[in-house]
Amino acid sequence: MPPELPEIVCRAREMSRRLAGRMITHVEALQPKCLNVPVATLRKALSGARISGVLNRGKWLFVETSKGHLLLNLGMGGEILLVPTDRLPQKWRVRFDLDHSESLAVNFWWFGYAHYVPTAKLGKHAMTAGLGPNALDVSLDDFRALLAGRRGAIKPFLLDQTHVAGIGNAYIHDILFRARLHPLRPISSLSQPEIDGLHAAIRTEFERSIQLGAAFFEVDLDGKPGGFAASDLLVGYRQGKPCPQCGTTVEKIKTGTTATFICPRCQPLRAPSPKRRSTRVKKA
Ligand SMILES: [Zn+2]
Repeated sequence: MPPELPEIVCRAREMSRRLAGRMITHVEALQPKCLNVPVATLRKALSGARISGVLNRGKWLFVETSKGHLLLNLGMGGEILLVPTDRLPQKWRVRFDLDHSESLAVNFWWFGYAHYVPTAKLGKHAMTAGLGPNALDVSLDDFRALLAGRRGAIKPFLLDQTHVAGIGNAYIHDILFRARLHPLRPISSLSQPEIDGLHAAIRTEFERSIQLGAAFFEVDLDGKPGGFAASDLLVGYRQGKPCPQCGTTVEKIKTGTTATFICPRCQPLRAPSPKRRSTRVKKA
């Protein structure tokens, strides 16, 4: 599973806390194809750079330094470890040596990147310039505006990083379940309460994971896995198990090119009838 917003938020906070003020003294790269500039250029650009903080945009880490930005994307199963330079892990692809004889050892398995971008050119970095706002930074009003007049189904819309950044295939199932939405519901069929519920579901799901230190399949700078376990999932990857809400068997269904895990009872494809909704409102 590639990291999503909770994992990257936790990593950015941890890196900010532990790396701010530290100086990069040397750079080595064993896998030049994950770089956007030649190794020598990267080394020259970042040697002597002081780290001021680390932020995230979607699934990217933005390491801010006195000499420009280092943009890291961990791809699938990547990790960043802070280790003594004389005790490097067995596998690393790019290494940033720091002061006090420590190193950031970055390992990518698949689709990982380490890009150097001068701060003035950040807006022109092709892979991040088009990213939408971080999912947790979208206000309810912005979210309503984002969905207004959209066509197509809700699931692919949420996964498109140019709309909202940070939602991926690990958390989408439980976000839709919390919002009681079928992944193929057309956006145009969503009622205002459903849209508001979806906005809340994204926040609840992500904030809960962040509180637990994010997903178990990602590790922190010390190599310790996050506290959000597979058993914390509600319906995601739980086909054949009972829905935590109603006990109906969770199903894995095909949704375009991807699969989605849903409770067929809690997440019906047809919108709840407006008649029933208004009756309920009257009663209340
Ligand atoms: Zn259910």
